Amino acid sequence: MSYQLTEKVRELEPYEPISGSYDIRLDANESFFNLPDEVREEIKQLMDTVDFNRYPDPTARRLTQAFADYYGLNTEHITVTNGSDEMLYLLASALLNKQSRVVVTDPDFSMYGFYSFLSENQVFTYKKNEQMQIEVDGLLAFAKEKAADMIIFSNPCNPTGCGITAEEARRLVRGAGDCLVVLDEAYMDFWEESLQGEAYTYDNLIVLKTASKAVGAASLRLGFAAANPTITKALRSIKSPYNVNTLSQEIGTCLYRHGDLLRQRREEIIGQTKRLYEEIRKLIDNYQLPMTIYEPCANFVFLQTEQAERIYRFMLENSVAVRWFRQAGALRITTGNEEENSQFLVLLEKYIMKNILKTNR
Ligand SMILES: *Cc1c(COP(=O)(O)O)cnc(C)c1O
Repeated sequence: MSYQLTEKVRELEPYEPISGSYDIRLDANESFFNLPDEVREEIKQLMDTVDFNRYPDPTARRLTQAFADYYGLNTEHITVTNGSDEMLYLLASALLNKQSRVVVTDPDFSMYGFYSFLSENQVFTYKKNEQMQIEVDGLLAFAKEKAADMIIFSNPCNPTGCGITAEEARRLVRGAGDCLVVLDEAYMDFWEESLQGEAYTYDNLIVLKTASKAVGAASLRLGFAAANPTITKALRSIKSPYNVNTLSQEIGTCLYRHGDLLRQRREEIIGQTKRLYEEIRKLIDNYQLPMTIYEPCANFVFLQTEQAERIYRFMLENSVAVRWFRQAGALRITTGNEEENSQFLVLLEKYIMKNILKTNR
């Protein structure tokens, strides 16, 4: 007998975001800001100090301090990983057991279910309501019925951009009892309903953040988990020791020390998202289109329409990449800068004139 892959992985395909190169990338929720020249210069200087022959600091001490200072946290409550993705995998595979019972929501970030599948957790899916909202009492009842060990969801949500308030999130965490709640706040920099600062006061809460979105450092792969000291000790113990490379630690430290720059960019991204949302809504209203758009709490908008696939392909033909969600019948459009958004909007209107209005007549 020759070697056979397990059934679990035999049919899997490697993750491929969008293949091909496009002029305007509005598909991955990245920041439209690249690093300014002054910061690049600082980074070049930093490179001269790196001991390339040595393993990285397993505790990422300086980076943890810079992150904690930026958000007003205590370093004792923070664990750093190679992107939030590493932590998501660790939660499913190491913090939980095989067969542990995980509640995810739908629509939400698909990686939760994926890592639980690989880790052989049991996954139960709670459906959000028509407004794309989590109803806390409903979710609590669902988790109880399923005897869940962990509830995990993004707040604000990727892909809908909708979220629950901090007060609702608190009610969820308190109501969950002995069930762990993981709040993925990857986009919370764009909203103000975070539980990160109080995560350590609960015995069943982990709050995740990333440098990949508002901070504009998706290339570095930096994720952060905030939790009480007991959970933090466990998270630090299950991660691989040298999970975050020295270059990312150094550059990340430098970035989080540029608090003013990060805050200023965050405001600009919020402003651009708002404009993108309002302009799309105007088109929907003006042309009376059968489309639903949700008010965004993140750096992207979510647009439900039966034409999602056709609009997606039309955009690609015009070298604009957005994200298409087949199952939800929706598009997720990350905000670009003003110019990029304008180009998207012009194309969208063109599509509407050519296809939707004509067929309606
Ligand atoms: C982008 C994203 C992440 C991934 O973060 P990385 O730190 O880049 O791995 C995690 N959660 C959600 C909801 C995201 O959208």
